Amino acid sequence: MGSELPADAGSRVIAALAAAIRENAAELSTIDGAIGDGDHGVNMSKGFGLAADRLGTGPVSLSKALRTLGDVLLSEIGGAMGPLYGTFFLEMGAAANGLESMDAAAVLKMLDAGLDGVIEVGGAAPGDKTLVDVLVPARAALARAIADGDDLRSGLRAMASAAEAGRDTTRGMAAKVGRASRLGDRSRGHLDAGATSCALILRVLAEELRSMSET
Ligand code: ADP
Ligand code: MG
Repeated sequence: MGSELPADAGSRVIAALAAAIRENAAELSTIDGAIGDGDHGVNMSKGFGLAADRLGTGPVSLSKALRTLGDVLLSEIGGAMGPLYGTFFLEMGAAANGLESMDAAAVLKMLDAGLDGVIEVGGAAPGDKTLVDVLVPARAALARAIADGDDLRSGLRAMASAAEAGRDTTRGMAAKVGRASRLGDRSRGHLDAGATSCALILRVLAEELRSMSET
């Protein structure tokens, strides 16, 4: 069951992600600048832009496109985010291998794989003020929607909203890992940059997958 994915699902998703990251690059760097080194938006924009250029607009499966994005982020962008988001998208892409139609269970499987990869690489726990504070509640909301028998559309909506709520919780946290952890308690009162980009990524992913499921 589920709705069939279009042949260009992958290139469409990556193009939409790259556009959203580009539009928000300055804000992401400003957020990173408050408690980090201010490079988050520039790094992300460079990596997503390179991946979108490499994929073009032709028919590319979701799995292939996510794995290409992961490869590019791993090899081309530095900082904490290269290995973390690189692994996130590589694992999501692997979980989407062979997927021809989309339903909420498939999204959960992808999200689970990506989250496991991020935890394995970065070792962050919920509460450490990272993108894990977005991924964990987003995953939980999607799993809850599936358990409640909700369709893909409401599952995606719940996932994206929980991601944004998770992003907002990072404001009250003291960073335990990464560059911002050097500030200790002084990192409180600011959003986490990785959590902010991650909530944006999940929002765009949800919107793209929903629009594809309607056509
Ligand atoms: P850098 O800190 O090297 O400048 P970025 O600015 O691109 O890298 O990314 C910073 C973001 O990386 C943080 O906002 C946080 O969400 C995330 N992060 C840092 N370390 C970890 C980690 N060990 N596990 C998960 N996420 C992390
Ligand atoms: Mg930084």
